Amino acid sequence: MLPARPADVFSLPRCGDCGAFHFYPKPACPECGGAKLDWAAASGGGSVYSFSVVHRAPSPAFKEQLPYVVAIVKTDEGPHLLSRVVGVAPEAVKIGMRLRARMEDGRPVFEAG
Ligand SMILES: [Zn+2]
Repeated sequence: MLPARPADVFSLPRCGDCGAFHFYPKPACPECGGAKLDWAAASGGGSVYSFSVVHRAPSPAFKEQLPYVVAIVKTDEGPHLLSRVVGVAPEAVKIGMRLRARMEDGRPVFEAG
């Protein structure tokens, strides 16, 4: 069982047996089946694999953030994850665009980079 994700450093689950990164957190390594899993600091680099621009708030709490971008980010370590892309106009986001992770309130968000 993985401990809680570090809140201050962009990290991904990593297997202590084979060294493979993966995401989402799993009870065993998807590459080798090993159970020695822990969070490891990742480079923070990645690129846009796919994305959507949200124009309708899923709840009132998101209304002032519209429009915003939710993307599937392909991290440089390999795993894909769903995250927000911030600091970039939605119309400027493109497939393959380089991104850089930073932590915001304990969760990763991605900026152009
Ligand atoms: Zn493994």
